[in-house]
Amino acid sequence: VKGDCLCGRVAVTVPGRPELLNECNCAFCLKLGALWGYYSAADVTVAGETRAYVREDLADPQLRGHHCPTCGSTVSWTARDGSAADTLAINMRLFDPGDLRGVKLVFGDARNRAEGDRSRPEYKPATTFDGLGAR
Ligand SMILES: [Zn+2]
Ligand SMILES: [Zn+2]
Repeated sequence: VKGDCLCGRVAVTVPGRPELLNECNCAFCLKLGALWGYYSAADVTVAGETRAYVREDLADPQLRGHHCPTCGSTVSWTARDGSAADTLAINMRLFDPGDLRGVKLVFGDARNRAEGDRSRPEYKPATTFDGLGAR
């Protein structure tokens, strides 16, 4: 399955639909406008130049965001500390929403859940992605 950024300079190929789509409520995810799908890094091809951004307002930001330097579309995030080095989060908004219809949609609650905190659920109740009206 192939997706691309708004200007088409960055193309992402993934082996199939993700297990779930995560719409997270933390500042990183909200402001980057992303709907995340998670893949093994070895299974994903990103073609084209991307630029990285790491938050400057946090002492130890966990994530490095990657975006298209021309149109600004969010492409992915990678972990900075290597703990999840094999995990690549892809912005599934680069893909045709119709192709994602029926995938489990979860609402990450990272805004209210500190890293490593197991006392709160990772996700709020889930639903299924409706395809945003795409045919
Ligand atoms: Zn672009
Ligand atoms: Zn988040």
